[in-house]
Amino acid sequence: MSLPVNTSPKNNNHPEEGDTNNSWSVRIAKVSGIPIRLHFTFILLLAFIGISGWGSTGLAQVGLLIGVFTCVVLHELGHSLVAQRYGYVVRDIVLYPIGGVASIEQTPRPRHELWIAVAGPAVNVVIAALIALYMQFFTPDSAWERLQALTQQGRAVTTGTPIETLLLVSNISLVLFNMLPAFPMDGGRVLRAVLAIKIGRAKATRIAAGIGQFIALLLGLVGLGILGNGASPMLVIIALFVYFGAGQERAAEESRDVMADAPVGEAMMRDFATLAHGDTLKHAADVLLAGSQQDFPVVAGGEVVGILSRTQLLRGLARDGDSAYVATFMDRDITFATPNEPLEDYLLSSHALRRAPVLVRENANGELLGMVTLENAMEFLTLRQIARLREDSDSGDDRKR
Ligand SMILES: [Zn+2]
Repeated sequence: MSLPVNTSPKNNNHPEEGDTNNSWSVRIAKVSGIPIRLHFTFILLLAFIGISGWGSTGLAQVGLLIGVFTCVVLHELGHSLVAQRYGYVVRDIVLYPIGGVASIEQTPRPRHELWIAVAGPAVNVVIAALIALYMQFFTPDSAWERLQALTQQGRAVTTGTPIETLLLVSNISLVLFNMLPAFPMDGGRVLRAVLAIKIGRAKATRIAAGIGQFIALLLGLVGLGILGNGASPMLVIIALFVYFGAGQERAAEESRDVMADAPVGEAMMRDFATLAHGDTLKHAADVLLAGSQQDFPVVAGGEVVGILSRTQLLRGLARDGDSAYVATFMDRDITFATPNEPLEDYLLSSHALRRAPVLVRENANGELLGMVTLENAMEFLTLRQIARLREDSDSGDDRKR
């Protein structure tokens, strides 16, 4: 599996690895700059198997599990190394009892996503082929004979089954299972990527997520023993993972889609008050009370020299009284944008996180055209979403972008 994560704003410095959401996992290795972590539930699973079969089969089972999960790590590295080749940042690989997840920052472009998704299962195909070659030349039974013997036993894997047979079966299962077209699993990502090349990512995601959730329901029914014979709690967990994963990715894609291509210029407010460098806080307070504006560009000699926010104004009033000057309390760290820059850049920046507005001007020496605050950017996106929904209901499901 591989999941894109969009939690890291573009302008934000990457926190030192080891700092982010790893309180529930332990780092065991680092390959190509990618930390590989064990989730605590996985450690519990190892401990449980080891203790419950201590002295007899427990240790052998832990050995097998480590073998299988080595193949899972290699699978995730397959995704990760191809992603790195395309220039994406891979944050980490975490091993859960149901499998591994490689977290890739940003959603890859469709053609890239296709190859990133295929690379994982391809690694298991190679491992399975190597095991089969080994069996062919160094053991009496070929891979084919062993698989036939296993199916004749009614798929019952006994304690006498050799570890190479189990690893062969594991790798074949990893390929078949991951290539199910159940988005967000690998097969579903391949499906989404292929569809996205033809019909755009937003629509492709909706279709792939729908198919993914349908397959998840089937897997859930099989896992609960309602379809087929024999229940499997593991399958139920995977079904839930797929079901909610698909829903989450669809929601994320929808918000990305609303933001897509929106330039700063469309969202900015043009009608706003400014303060002069030499204004007093009393004057600033009067302007604040007169309207609904919360942040005021401060101008000196025709140039913007800072921004005074409501918070800074109140702090200034409390500290120095209303005869103090605006210049003393304003924020001098200003971000400028041009009208054609993507709004998405602002919304993902650290400025938006601390609710600081961005000022818009035509070029570095141009006059101030407008200002975008988090509030009016959100309002703009809400209106855009409503317009899209109306468009959708007017023209069936045929969205034009
Ligand atoms: Zn995968």
